[in-house]
Amino acid sequence: MGKDPTERQNEDDIEVRCPECGTVFHVPLEKAEREMRARCPKGHDVPLAKALG
Ligand SMILES: [Zn+2]
Repeated sequence: MGKDPTERQNEDDIEVRCPECGTVFHVPLEKAEREMRARCPKGHDVPLAKALG
């Protein structure tokens, strides 16, 4: 019960690597396309223009 142990990555997420600290995290593609930026778990602002082409 509770969390699925096989927890799949949401296929609508993209993988982002923070250029500041190197942390890899996921953001929803929809949000990434809309905002063109993400915030890494450590609070760094990460531009996504390159990641999305
Ligand atoms: Zn970071």
